[in-house]
Amino acid sequence: MSEKLHLDPIACTGHGLCAELLPELIWLDEWGYPVIEDGELTPELLGHARRAVDACPTLALRLQRERAARRPRPAGGGRPAGRTPSY
Ligand code: SF4
Repeated sequence: MSEKLHLDPIACTGHGLCAELLPELIWLDEWGYPVIEDGELTPELLGHARRAVDACPTLALRLQRERAARRPRPAGGGRPAGRTPSY
């Protein structure tokens, strides 16, 4: 499971603190609001991301765990051939 940064644009007031703490992944648009780079957080950046989340004065920034992509089901619904379910 990996973690990803999420921004609540309604709660954000554009302080820009997060961009100062994590310039590798967050930059400010022309109005001073953060834009988060899409992509996985590397272990090296995770500590900086946590600091940025903790420093956000409006709790607009958060880290959320992402589940790994599900494996596709095998053809036939995943049931072994020749077997019927018992009810
Ligand atoms: S620190 Fe929080 S309020 Fe300030 S720009 Fe970043 S997300 Fe928005």
